[in-house]
Amino acid sequence: MRYVKISKANTYKFLERLKAKGTLYAPTKISEKFYDFREVNDVKAVQFDYNRTIRPPRRFFYPARETMFTFDTTKVELYENVPEDETIILFGVHSCDIVGLRIVDSEFIDENPDPYYKKRRESGIIIGLSCLPDEYCFCNVRRVDFVDAGFDLFFHELPDGFLVRVGTVTGHKLIDPNMDIFGEITQEDVDYMTAFNEKRGEMFPIQGNWDDLRYFLELRRDHPMYARESEKCLGCGNCTLTCPTCRCYDVKDIPSIDGMTGERVRVWDSCQFRSHGLVAGPHNFRPTKESRFENRYMCKNAYNKDTTTAYCVGCGRCTYFCPADINFRKNLMEIGGYKEAV
Ligand code: SF4
Ligand code: SF4
Repeated sequence: MRYVKISKANTYKFLERLKAKGTLYAPTKISEKFYDFREVNDVKAVQFDYNRTIRPPRRFFYPARETMFTFDTTKVELYENVPEDETIILFGVHSCDIVGLRIVDSEFIDENPDPYYKKRRESGIIIGLSCLPDEYCFCNVRRVDFVDAGFDLFFHELPDGFLVRVGTVTGHKLIDPNMDIFGEITQEDVDYMTAFNEKRGEMFPIQGNWDDLRYFLELRRDHPMYARESEKCLGCGNCTLTCPTCRCYDVKDIPSIDGMTGERVRVWDSCQFRSHGLVAGPHNFRPTKESRFENRYMCKNAYNKDTTTAYCVGCGRCTYFCPADINFRKNLMEIGGYKEAV
């Protein structure tokens, strides 16, 4: 792997230059408490020390609503809505979200390639950024707190800039023409990175790993936590819509008023909605809130063979954005019998 270094002042210059290569999105403070990936107009507005964005990065490649095709029954024609040629550059993606994207890839590219997702994703550029955890983070016990794949460049904080890991050929192509603003790393930089990672490791609210969690979830399906916590759940779906790895969607045909033309749209769905398990009959595969609640806990902790991780990457969004204050991490700890770090 190749390593280079860049100062903070030159990072702004680099971001400015990236804008010429595609549409650049980066973490931006949008309110007192919330951050979101937004298109970068002013590079000085980019946030380097955010914890989590309200919307996950998957939305850039798998939009919350998209028209797949339009149709005209009078001509018996169908017009596919192929995504435009656009390079989406995401700067400032944390390790957990990089693995989140790889999990979405495993379903939309590896299994049964989805042309809409694949086209956007394959022309996308991912630039990672190091972070420090807060009380909602648990990517460490998910073993995704440090990534070695899934990024073109990865920026690690230094006192006066960043140590940059180059992860792909695309990454090299971003660095090579910009060597006037990148430099060689020093032993001091490596020592700082080591100390930063050590400090970061100690800051997580829990230690160890949760490799055995999926077995405990299977063995304790009648755990009282599900009835107690699902009682509080509002069924709003925030936990799934903010999750970087959720992939469920619904497909609807929306006809014009005369029924002659129309569009087929794909919209994000949530397993926390009553309608999610509803089929003809009417039969509902998950008729109760408790059954829907439990489904999410089982789904998120299953094993993804392509990334060799759980589907939950420990980003903390589902707890942070839950209006009913349901703490996913603590509930999982109760099932797994894990203790808080002291
Ligand atoms: S965000 Fe909270 S209240 Fe809303 S569906 Fe998820 S667990 Fe229930
Ligand atoms: S389940 Fe919650 S903590 Fe896990 S990846 Fe999804 S939003 Fe993040």
